Amino acid sequence: MGHEGTIIRPPSEASSLILQVAVGCSHNACTFCPAYKKKSFRIKSLQEIKEDVDYAARTAVREVRRVFLCDGDPLGMPQDVLVEVLRYLRSTFPRLQRVGIYANALNILDKTVSQLRELRTLKLGIVYLGLESGDPETLRAIHKGATPEQMIKAARMVREAGMKLNVTVLLGIGGKERSLQHANETIRVLNAMQPQYVGALTVMVVPGTPLYQSMEKGDFELPDTFDLIRELRDMVQGSHLEHCLFFSNHASNYVPIQARLPKDKEDTLQALNHIIDERNEGVLRPEYLRGL
Ligand code: SF4
Repeated sequence: MGHEGTIIRPPSEASSLILQVAVGCSHNACTFCPAYKKKSFRIKSLQEIKEDVDYAARTAVREVRRVFLCDGDPLGMPQDVLVEVLRYLRSTFPRLQRVGIYANALNILDKTVSQLRELRTLKLGIVYLGLESGDPETLRAIHKGATPEQMIKAARMVREAGMKLNVTVLLGIGGKERSLQHANETIRVLNAMQPQYVGALTVMVVPGTPLYQSMEKGDFELPDTFDLIRELRDMVQGSHLEHCLFFSNHASNYVPIQARLPKDKEDTLQALNHIIDERNEGVLRPEYLRGL
């Protein structure tokens, strides 16, 4: 496959065929994100994409049932190109069940619900959206490029189109200063979005990113470890999610949880409160095992 540079995919797409339909991220401005800084954004030609699909069809060791489209925000591709890619995938892989895609809020808002529905009928079944924070000041500070209300609108469009929605939030991204607002506003926005999946990661400040430079200058300070866990607790506590798998099992986190909300809410809160009250570092993931 003609993958350019490092490829990133959600953990839940580990067994999917990873198809790079665009290189880099059209936004590429989030201050914490090291993912595509060395890539110039471009959409691959249909010919390149089809060649990759053909190569995968020739070499796949098992039937392809799931495909994930990357890099950073390929939902921003023109509708006719996406339609053609999805049609080609369907005709090449007759057992195809679901295609997943990364998106940002502006990609989604650039489409209509009927365009999203068209993609849904062609098996685009799940959208992975990085919310990071529901706090407007934090979103501005990290140059996310969308407001909380735009995020909510985009999420509702995805759900209205019948697709599943997986939203990522970043513990610690508000820094010490906005830790409380970050947790409270993030769960407010998640409640308004009602995603089926929420993945909480902990921000890792990577050298070379603007966030790292801010930290070096003293303009950004990470909350301490137990405040990061308190952010997670506050989000679970404030949740009114109707049917959601809320997980924090990414390697960046100190405490892995996997909670079906609302069913597991009380048990999860009890476990997190216990960790916070005891301040027992022995139960946390050790620093050397944490990573992106
Ligand atoms: S939109 Fe996503 S991929 Fe693009 S810079 Fe922001 S976090 Fe990174």
